Amino acid sequence: MSKQTLSFQAEVKQILHLVTHSLYSNKEIFLRELISNASDACDKLRFEALNDAALYEDTPNLEVRVAFDPEAKTITITDNGIGLSESEAVANLGTIAKSGTREFMAKLEGDQKKDANLIGQFGVGFYSGFIVADRITVESRRAGLTPDEGVRWTSEGAGDFEVETITRPERGTSVTLHLREGEDEFLASWKLRSIIGKYSDHISLPILMRKEEWDSEAGQQKLTDEWAPVNKASALWARAKNDITREQYEEFYKQISYDTEAPLAYTHNRVEGRSEYTQLLYIPAKAPFDLWNRDKRGGVKLYVKRVFIMDDAEALMPVYLRFVKGVIDSADLPLNVSRELLQESRDVKAIREGSTKRVLSMLESLADSEDAAEREKYAKFWKDFGAVLKEGVGEDHANQERLAKLLRFASTQADEGVSLTDYVKRMKDGQEAIYYITADTLSAAKSSPQLEIFRKKGIEVLLLVDRVDEWMLAHLFEFDGKPLQSVAKGAVDLGKLQDEEEKKKTEEAAEAFKPLLEKLKEALKDRAKDVRVTTRLVDSPACLVVDEGDISGHLARLLKQAGQDAPKGKPILEVNAEHALVKRLDGSAHFDDLAHILFDQALLAEGGQLEDPAAYVRRVNALLTA
Ligand code: ADP
Ligand code: MG
Repeated sequence: MSKQTLSFQAEVKQILHLVTHSLYSNKEIFLRELISNASDACDKLRFEALNDAALYEDTPNLEVRVAFDPEAKTITITDNGIGLSESEAVANLGTIAKSGTREFMAKLEGDQKKDANLIGQFGVGFYSGFIVADRITVESRRAGLTPDEGVRWTSEGAGDFEVETITRPERGTSVTLHLREGEDEFLASWKLRSIIGKYSDHISLPILMRKEEWDSEAGQQKLTDEWAPVNKASALWARAKNDITREQYEEFYKQISYDTEAPLAYTHNRVEGRSEYTQLLYIPAKAPFDLWNRDKRGGVKLYVKRVFIMDDAEALMPVYLRFVKGVIDSADLPLNVSRELLQESRDVKAIREGSTKRVLSMLESLADSEDAAEREKYAKFWKDFGAVLKEGVGEDHANQERLAKLLRFASTQADEGVSLTDYVKRMKDGQEAIYYITADTLSAAKSSPQLEIFRKKGIEVLLLVDRVDEWMLAHLFEFDGKPLQSVAKGAVDLGKLQDEEEKKKTEEAAEAFKPLLEKLKEALKDRAKDVRVTTRLVDSPACLVVDEGDISGHLARLLKQAGQDAPKGKPILEVNAEHALVKRLDGSAHFDDLAHILFDQALLAEGGQLEDPAAYVRRVNALLTA
């Protein structure tokens, strides 16, 4: 028999330090975590046994047993799942292979009394045992190995652990917690039962505890040798909706998502028809820290006829709904389905389409609810996930219209929460397009000179400041039959919104301005594609616009920031013939300087950067000292 002392990986030491020194509230979650591991181990055995039924040996009924010993002050959680080989025990209980540990640690630094619940979030649940135990012993034998290939793993939760080979006839794992001083409250049957009821009721295998009976001699309850289930032992999603309470739905969510907060909304349905499946899907209340990682796999677990098949089955949800958590249990897929097969399966396609629609309905019922509190929930959702949902406008053409209705923007009338439907309702008589402007920030958008005429006429303009907006707009051309039109593209054509008199005035101004325009074009020929007189400006002397088909200055800047080459098109300079500065051009001795300053200011006003700031300063100074 070999016995080795090994050192924990540095990250584990850090976690253990935190666990033993600063997790105070919700200590009881250690039991949830250990039962969850036992349940995972049984799922894994079931899955491996699909190809090798011999792994069941002579105990095909999978179960978890929770026992305690008041004298020895121990709690033991035993499962007959897949078990651990010696090398697996060393690797899985001594190191953390997952990413995200650093974020976890960062989250835990700071506040004083930390919530133990956090530990489950980062998939390091096993170590939560050390919240209440000063020594943990794990004894295990992997399915398929012989009894003399068992392992005992022991640690006091400091720097190291011991492993030795043992003989263990039973397959599976026992985790024994040697409770710390002062943790005796967990050595009571009712206490353990109530924790199991609270956190683990939905676990689909039986969790057994010894029955108690009244010992009249001793005047107290006494443990018997009879084991009985404490939970309902049916997968939550397989039960009838009416039999499930909101608390149970929420607890199940917390268990699968490791979120500490209740979900924003959930939907639970049995779908029948060409493809038969059950879906239980949740929308989290808060964005996870890695929401922006598009490569992250989805949060939906796949089961086939209650058998767990895989986590993060990304084929079940479109990428833009990667924040959705839940379970899909198919009645049609083969049990040995692989990720590759999933991508091609027609059943999966039907599941994905059906589930996408469900999630959209869930969002719609929040967004369109009569109840202000529900609409408030949608506003909250939008803050955290709106930018992700926008990806769907381009990705999911089949649902584009539904998605467009769910979009919310800032506008010249409200800083947030403006839907396209609201906008269309507020459109002026004779207004034919939905106007928008894109910019880097809300304040840049608001102070953009292009908005001046729209303000003057009281026409609402959407202010789009998310990075994905430009991309989304490349896919969304109209809403409710109205084209979406950038106020910074093409000439302003307010159509029927402009009265005849105004039109005439512009034409006259343009005519009178013609000689000056030619001079301006000549002076700026390297920088501007064209120079023209505009009616879109009220207070500003000039602004830049691009031709209808060209990419906006904003998009060009985004591309540049992303390290991509933006097609180099020249903008059009539009001038306000009524502005004092523009009037000064005529006959000015500093015509050239004024022309360039006009252009530079227009560029600055839209959030652009001067190519030659020193030249700008020189020109302004020349004028100031003239
Ligand atoms: P997670 O469950 O998220 O993987 P844990 O810290 O809870 O993280 O567990 C770490 C690992 O230890 C598991 O992934 C698994 O490989 C192993 N493990 C823990 N408990 C058991 C068990 N009862 N049976 C088999 N393996 C287990
Ligand atoms: Mg776990």
